[in-house]
Amino acid sequence: MADYIYTMELRLTPDQLKGVGLVQDVARAAGMNLYLTGGAIRDLISGFSIRDLDFTVQGNPLKLQKDLEKAGAKIAAVEEDMRTVFISLPGNARAEISMARTEQYEKTGKPPVVAPATIHEDLRRRDFTVNAMALSLNEGSRGLLLDPFNGTADIEAKLIRILHNYSFLEDPSRLIRATRFAARFHWPLEERTQARYDAAKEGKYSDYILRSSIGHEIAALAHEDDPLHVVKMLEKEGWLEILNSHWTSAKVDASGLGQLMKTRQQMVDLGYAPDAGPAVMYFLTSRLSNSDIAELQRLIPRKDLVEAWRDIEDHAKELAKRLMGKEAATPSRTWTLLSAARPEMILFLAVTARQQVVEQKIKNYLTKWRQVQQKIPLPEMTELLITPQLPAYPKIAHDVFMLLLDGKLRSRTETLKFLKPFAPPPPPPPPAPRRGRGPKAVAEAAAAASAKPGSKLAKKPKVAAVAVPAVAAPKPVAKPKVPEKPKPARTQKPAKPTKPAHKPAKKPARKAPAKKAKGKKRR
Ligand code: ATP
Ligand code: MG
Repeated sequence: MADYIYTMELRLTPDQLKGVGLVQDVARAAGMNLYLTGGAIRDLISGFSIRDLDFTVQGNPLKLQKDLEKAGAKIAAVEEDMRTVFISLPGNARAEISMARTEQYEKTGKPPVVAPATIHEDLRRRDFTVNAMALSLNEGSRGLLLDPFNGTADIEAKLIRILHNYSFLEDPSRLIRATRFAARFHWPLEERTQARYDAAKEGKYSDYILRSSIGHEIAALAHEDDPLHVVKMLEKEGWLEILNSHWTSAKVDASGLGQLMKTRQQMVDLGYAPDAGPAVMYFLTSRLSNSDIAELQRLIPRKDLVEAWRDIEDHAKELAKRLMGKEAATPSRTWTLLSAARPEMILFLAVTARQQVVEQKIKNYLTKWRQVQQKIPLPEMTELLITPQLPAYPKIAHDVFMLLLDGKLRSRTETLKFLKPFAPPPPPPPPAPRRGRGPKAVAEAAAAASAKPGSKLAKKPKVAAVAVPAVAAPKPVAKPKVPEKPKPARTQKPAKPTKPAHKPAKKPARKAPAKKAKGKKRR
């Protein structure tokens, strides 16, 4: 049987994994059973990147709000009627916690009547088989996968399948969702689902999509890996105009969006975790009128996304201004400024900066200046005993990097000259070996000889594990790349970012003892 907890630990980003722990603790303390559900499970199993965490509790998650906040989560939105809480977990991880519920659709176009239910009942109200699974996070059954519609088989077959014939009639927003998932994963609709989809389209079920569902579908675009492709598919199917009547793919700044996604990937490869969502929305709607944009924003439930999207230009302008001022007069100062800026803003400004100097500084920050780190003479630093074990090491490494950045240390000799005064005194010599003929004395003499510099037996000092100044320490990667062809989950571990700094290095070999060993030669 697959070990889904292991898969989860392997596939989630460190922030997401911590988030699971946080929600788990809060739910447990409140005595509510908790499950990881929906897209999170689908993506865990299929190997696609997990964009947000969907939790379901048996109980009312609105009651968890205070405890969630106390534990460090931010409440981004609340849907009272559906009893769903949208949260931001520390480190950019998005999540929602919904109540396990039944939904009864009594009238077309009216919201369903919702009632608390068990997780098993809840899974029956879901959209597609691949989204109708739950992983227990509860003591006693932790790791148990509930998969009543055999979603794992449909993941294997790469098929999108509704749970029952009335699915699109009950909630026509599933038409948009079906297209979105089909576009994202390049999975077709299963034959019968396709037939129901076509019938629903012809029957104009889409006229009955709820406004709240429209808001969800708009927001979902922000987190696609290839948003333009999804937008084009929505447009082709006639759904984009439902999200906004003036929205077409021609309103998208395709080149800006393309550049954004490229730079985002570049940053992810460097170990940053920028939330590209607000910038994606900016480019997707670049040529829409302000009033259309305002209308889209009104419909989005997560206000943190809306605010970040609204403020993105102003914040970028502020950063650009600072990058042109004294604060960024030198490469080292620019580095410090950008290291403290939000990765989202660096990302957006990298693509939108109008001033060449700003553009160049960001480019240097993401590429050229990183190569300067290679000029830090780590082996020589290790020989000088300037290793991560030294309390002053982070500062020394930082200072040398800053000086190198500014071209103030122009050669290795100059760099070493700068470093030498920071070298700690060598450790005291080991006690002199005892005289005598016994085997112990002979062994001691041999050990001493091996430590003597120049001796054939002498060990070379070990080079400290690559240590780069703290200034270069980026955050861990948030999302693994979306694989073209997802492999089984276990093989999809996101590439670890290169660990920049402060790995305790192995101690270098000790210097030769001051006294010569005086073991007598054997005859
Ligand atoms: P994404 O990767 O875009 O987040 P998702 O499947 O997780 O995809 P969400 O909008 O986050 O989509 O919804 C979480 C889960 O809630 C879904 O997987 C699905 O089980 C359920 N769900 C969401 N919208 C609907 C809907 N309109 N009808 C039925 N179930 C839905
Ligand atoms: Mg989701």
